[in-house]
Amino acid sequence: MPAAASRALCDFLDASPTAFHAADSIAAALRASGAVRLDEREAWKLEAGKTYFVDRNGSSVIAFRPGTALPEDSGFAIAGAHTDAPALRVRPEKALRARRSERIAVEIYGGPIVSTWLDRPLSLAGRVAVRGKDGRAEARLVNLARPVAVVPNLAIHLNREVNKGFEYNAQNHLPALCAWPAEEASDPARAPWALQAVAAELGVEVKEVLGTELFLVDAQRALAFGPGAELVNSGRADDLAGCHAILQAFRQSEAKPHGQVAVFFDNEEVGSATLQGADGVYLRELLERFSVAFGSGGEGFKRAIARSFSVSVDAAQGWHPSYADKYDETYGPTLNAGPAVKANANFRYATDALSEAAFRSLCAEAGVPCQKFQVRADQTPGSTIGPISSKLTGIRTVDVGAPLLAMHSIRETVGARDHEWMIAALRKLFERGPDLY
Ligand SMILES: [Zn+2]
Repeated sequence: MPAAASRALCDFLDASPTAFHAADSIAAALRASGAVRLDEREAWKLEAGKTYFVDRNGSSVIAFRPGTALPEDSGFAIAGAHTDAPALRVRPEKALRARRSERIAVEIYGGPIVSTWLDRPLSLAGRVAVRGKDGRAEARLVNLARPVAVVPNLAIHLNREVNKGFEYNAQNHLPALCAWPAEEASDPARAPWALQAVAAELGVEVKEVLGTELFLVDAQRALAFGPGAELVNSGRADDLAGCHAILQAFRQSEAKPHGQVAVFFDNEEVGSATLQGADGVYLRELLERFSVAFGSGGEGFKRAIARSFSVSVDAAQGWHPSYADKYDETYGPTLNAGPAVKANANFRYATDALSEAAFRSLCAEAGVPCQKFQVRADQTPGSTIGPISSKLTGIRTVDVGAPLLAMHSIRETVGARDHEWMIAALRKLFERGPDLY
């Protein structure tokens, strides 16, 4: 049986097929531990000793536990991750029909390993806007949570070179087959199947669906494998494992003199430059609002920022035994050997000497092993919310992540032990606070 931490991780992954559902899962967990949701449009009356969270766009959550000291004297200990993952985004207004078959048109969100979306059961999930009672748009979550479509490959006999690598064209090859009845449909003007299914799920008419953000996602559940159930295989482990580790660490922590902040940003996979993404004013403005509410406005807020420290948690490219030459032998982090500090000379990661040392000291105090990840010197790594968020908030940041295999595949693999260790290290961050360097 998997350990409690990986069971909880699998439940979180299964409940979170899209960023909207991830934010919903996070909000539900925060509420269950007594946190109060704040509406950004309202005036806030905040009390010491309570925990709060804000949910922007239904896909990006920031939770805040005020400290017992003034923010200007103690700063904020912050941990952040991202709620979104690569997927096929549905174009639901378009019905692709031929010889009684129907396919769902898609476009690509982020940078998936496209071939892994083919020939496997896909479910449909996301958010739709429907016409509310007073004529205003109302957001509703949809999660069909069952196999409804497949993107079939072409037979190898018609593409014998396919195993040498094939470039899938999103317009031509990635529409997902969702129906092929034996009889011709009686109503040729009927709405596309995806729209009908979503409307039926929500109990509304198709014409009441006014806007959609729907995705085709893996329909299979997360699972643990290995003799000791030491490996977890799932869709969206990048970066929902990071979100879950932060959420658990935040919920398990108690108020300290410093403020504690848990950040869950949407849209990292497409560059973060959205209303609710890291490349915007969301975090900085909320930190200021919380700082002012707890007695540190103006210069006090700037002092609070200068005292703060942030850990950006996102998956690291774990060492892959079948592709050892793709890694620098010293800097390829091994699964189930602890979280990795991620560093890059050109600051694709925010890590510097002091922030690395700060995270290493948190790990040491928590009894957690710590690895280091750098790509080969002839490669360029991906990036994270770390450098973006650090630039916009002015807060020293370290980039870290649990090693993960098959990053951006429809199913990725992580180490169960690494997840427990990440939670322990982040608990230490929330306990110790930002005064680490
Ligand atoms: Zn990521």
